[in-house]
Amino acid sequence: MGFNPFVLGEAVEKAVCVVRSGVVWRRYYRFRGGRWYGGIATADCVGCNLRCGFCWSWRYGSFTTSAGRLYPPQEVVRRLEGIASRRGYRYVRVSGGEPTLCFEHLKQVIKGLGASGFVFILETNGLVLGRDEGVVREVANLGNVVVRVSLKGATPEEFSRLTGADPEFFNYQLRALENLLNAGMRPVEEFYPAVMISFTPPQNFKALKEALARIHPDLADNIDIELVILYPHVKKLLKKTGLKPLKAVEPGRIPDFMI
Ligand code: SF4
Repeated sequence: MGFNPFVLGEAVEKAVCVVRSGVVWRRYYRFRGGRWYGGIATADCVGCNLRCGFCWSWRYGSFTTSAGRLYPPQEVVRRLEGIASRRGYRYVRVSGGEPTLCFEHLKQVIKGLGASGFVFILETNGLVLGRDEGVVREVANLGNVVVRVSLKGATPEEFSRLTGADPEFFNYQLRALENLLNAGMRPVEEFYPAVMISFTPPQNFKALKEALARIHPDLADNIDIELVILYPHVKKLLKKTGLKPLKAVEPGRIPDFMI
């Protein structure tokens, strides 16, 4: 029995978002450029509805609600546009925590960036999208979004071991993919699964591929593989949570397929 991530998510939303004059502000701790996706501007938000025992952003992003400061969507747009324009990037994203918390804020950020021609990569653990088809339809209608659903483990039991949440919530991640398909988004081009496989034995990966193929065969053949990167602060968290990766990579030796 683990925690309910929707209950945690509501509490986190209350702590990291505030409405001012009808506009939703959210907490962020950093804005940066980076080499992922061939070059992407990133706003690192604060707050998540999971507690993954391997999370790279646990100190300032996902496990906290008090880091950084509040920003209105137009300021997030302005900063991301500035970074992307200066560096010649086409892609922008929100990382660090779970972007779909305080969805109204995220929607305004994506809309603002779409107006300037940027493609928004929505990296999400999928829980909110798996629960709420209305939110998924809104995402699909924005037009400038590619959704990367990052599955935390390959089976309900693995998900629970990695995130601390109850196993039943694993299926919301798969349902996110189903909802995106049903909302008319194109598999692989407009949405795709990623999975953290550092803790996944081969039989669990096989089970995941079968589950994905039942949603759409192309999803099973286009899984973005994630491996734990052993930054010192991640090693510290792994030690604390007792998770032992079967496979991992050193920070200076990240393989090309992960970038
Ligand atoms: S869902 Fe992502 S941001 Fe949230 S705790 Fe897990 S790895 Fe970290």
